[in-house]
Amino acid sequence: MPRALIINGKTIAEALRQEVATGAADLRRTRGIVPGLAVVLVGEDPASQVYVRTKVKATRDVGMVSFEHKLPADAPEAGLLTLIAELNARQDVHGILVQLPLPSQIDTRHVIEALDPTKDVDGFHPINIGRLASGAHALAPCTPAGCVILAKSVRSDLAGLEAVVIGRSNIVGKPMAQLLLNENCTVTVAHSRTRDLPAVVRRADLVVAAVGRAEMVRGDWIKAGATVIDVGIQRVPGPDGRSRLVGDVAFAEAIKVAGAVTPVPGGVGPMTVACLLKNTLEAAKAGAKA
Ligand code: NDP
Repeated sequence: MPRALIINGKTIAEALRQEVATGAADLRRTRGIVPGLAVVLVGEDPASQVYVRTKVKATRDVGMVSFEHKLPADAPEAGLLTLIAELNARQDVHGILVQLPLPSQIDTRHVIEALDPTKDVDGFHPINIGRLASGAHALAPCTPAGCVILAKSVRSDLAGLEAVVIGRSNIVGKPMAQLLLNENCTVTVAHSRTRDLPAVVRRADLVVAAVGRAEMVRGDWIKAGATVIDVGIQRVPGPDGRSRLVGDVAFAEAIKVAGAVTPVPGGVGPMTVACLLKNTLEAAKAGAKA
């Protein structure tokens, strides 16, 4: 039975972190600049706290400075906007990340639009989205940027591939489609209203699943030899009663058909943080030139 290559996101992310660490050391040596990432957390959502801790540690591990800002869950929008204005103005802050989701009294759109686009290392500001869509250089959203690196680890040139992105969120699906278009793929974006999703996915040489539905993409949806990038991450009860993490793709089925598949965990997840560090270095370098 043929078995797919399992794309090792941890190893690929580690290599990228090493590259960033080298770049950060060069910037410090040549320009005296230490890239700084400000991370803003509003409230005490446990998952967000874990993400923030991971990002802070990863930032320090590559020789960058991390500035943590914690606001209470009932912080008013105006207070957060004031903090962002301060961070926008600071010379030692090159990247700003506001951990999402935000509490309901705060309009996420206002917050993202308040960021200096040159410090928007999540790549969510309309200016960066517009630059990405128009093919200009932009700070690209971290998760889809990581997916492109993973896909290119299998095949360095993605040009001409039929790519199907399942999911059209602003943070994953839509920018994913733009990035793959920029790589000269023929891109289809599927979503909850797509008719006959299995047939659409069967056309794909490259599948990116970003839905949030455990093991929705079955093995018989996948074209033989396709590359499958699984962004989804869900906790489900395991056979032994303990919970386990799964993606949007039925992994055990997919590895029998696909050419290459990312695992969950250990696939896309580590790349998201590595790409955040890469964007922070890029923002610091761009700031050094300005
Ligand atoms: P959203 O919930 O914002 O978007 C989900 C998308 O999936 C929507 O576009 C929705 O379509 C589509 N969808 C829902 N049900 C179906 C269906 N039955 N068939 C086809 N499409 C469907 O999720 P995100 O994009 O934020 O995240 C997706 C997944 O990726 C989640 O599991 C999330 O946890 C994970 N994630 C992982 C990251 C990582 O670093 N590993 C980072 C970010 C996200 P419609 O628009 O029509 O409603």
